Amino acid sequence: MKKDRFLSRRYRPFSRSFRRLNDLQKKRIYRLRFQKFTVCIVFLMVGVCLLAGYQMLFFPRIKLLGSRVVELEYQEKYEELGYCSSYRGKDISSKVKVKGDVDSSKLGEYQITYEVQYHGATTTKTRIVRVVDSVKPKITFSASRKKLYICPDSKYLYDDYQAVDNYDGDITKKVKVDEVGDKMRYQVEDSAGNKTVVERKIYYQDVESPTLTLDNETVLVNKGDYYQDSSYQVLDNCTKEVSVEVSGDVNTNQVGEYERKYRAKDKAGNVSEIVQKVIVMEPVKKGVIYLTFDDGPRSGTTDIILNILKEKNVKATFFVTSGGPDDLIKRMYDEGHSIGLHTASHDYSVVYGSIDSYFQDLAIVSDRVEKVTGQKSYLIRFPGGSSNTVSKKYTPGIMSYLTKEVLSRGYRYYDWNIDSRDAEGGKFTADEISNFVTSKLSHDKVNMVLMHDVKVTTKDAIGKIIDYGKANGYTFDAITPYTDMVVQRVNN
Ligand code: ZN
Repeated sequence: MKKDRFLSRRYRPFSRSFRRLNDLQKKRIYRLRFQKFTVCIVFLMVGVCLLAGYQMLFFPRIKLLGSRVVELEYQEKYEELGYCSSYRGKDISSKVKVKGDVDSSKLGEYQITYEVQYHGATTTKTRIVRVVDSVKPKITFSASRKKLYICPDSKYLYDDYQAVDNYDGDITKKVKVDEVGDKMRYQVEDSAGNKTVVERKIYYQDVESPTLTLDNETVLVNKGDYYQDSSYQVLDNCTKEVSVEVSGDVNTNQVGEYERKYRAKDKAGNVSEIVQKVIVMEPVKKGVIYLTFDDGPRSGTTDIILNILKEKNVKATFFVTSGGPDDLIKRMYDEGHSIGLHTASHDYSVVYGSIDSYFQDLAIVSDRVEKVTGQKSYLIRFPGGSSNTVSKKYTPGIMSYLTKEVLSRGYRYYDWNIDSRDAEGGKFTADEISNFVTSKLSHDKVNMVLMHDVKVTTKDAIGKIIDYGKANGYTFDAITPYTDMVVQRVNN
């Protein structure tokens, strides 16, 4: 044995002197080394076990749930994965103090520490949170994503792409563009090394229509006036050779709506069209009287008014609601009067409650008129007139909006410039009402008279008004969609 130890010290394995030994001696040396190694391992294991036991007995334990190294995407919210803590089998998780913040708007490594103190002993664990950017930048194109159209005989302008990264923002300047065969290749890499490559096939073709714009898409012309086509601007992506054809007849001697079609065509045959609406209006008729009746129809008053109008051969305009019988609306229409829309409910809180509410209410009375007469009406009178301030209580600014919106929806609205005051609670007699009107008539203006066919005194006044008008050289007419609007100043 002593000899073996001597051998082991004297001859290190694989040294020159070791190689000279015989097999038996070599085996002895190996065995001795192995014994020494085993003893070391056993001591080490006993040490570890003792340490672990000591820890278990005198230190609280912390166990982290989930991974100890967590990767978090940039801008993603960090959510604690959880932990538990115990001391000699007793749950003391609630005593764990967690420290450390993760700012996911900044790339980098963050530490979360978990610490628990119990019976004078402290245990600490840490978790690493890495905020990373692994999202690729995006390359987008203003036109087709798959195909790249370049004007014939032209060069690529490198101006139709954009690269945006979730972390770096706009990195269009970093895009590398190369022509590879019949394709254009776009490559970009963000600061975190995420790379995006997109390819587009190249076509030397003009596929875009020219853009055509008119100065006015709706033109009003007075009957008999000269109509001139609007000026237009035409632009094409590839060529200056663009032809514009204009077609469609406008007869300015006949009131009505006409269409003029503007058609632009480029060298490659791409076409764009705009249709212009030309409305030939009645000339402004000074000295004409438009008798207008709101709020009806109503049995017992509207029918008597219709009788008088018929007897005196005068045409008027009725702005109706959802009240009264359909028969009276049919009769107005059959006897040549104009029918306009006053709203169905005439309830200010409803019609001026919101823009949608106004148009919903208008649609009800519009459908009624269309059902009874077979014709849609485009004439409007706002309850209270366009100058009303009541609407402010329900929706500030609504009249400013509605007065424009009704026009863009193809309606025309008519206020008044003579108020008969027949709606003022039966305060005035038929003679007084007649006087209010006749005293304001003028040969130098269009006379738009506000009356209400639901009022009892009104029917007694109109005979007098008509007789006065006729005796003093005035004419009577009904409003048509080609009648110039009479409007008040909007106050809301
Ligand atoms: Zn009214």
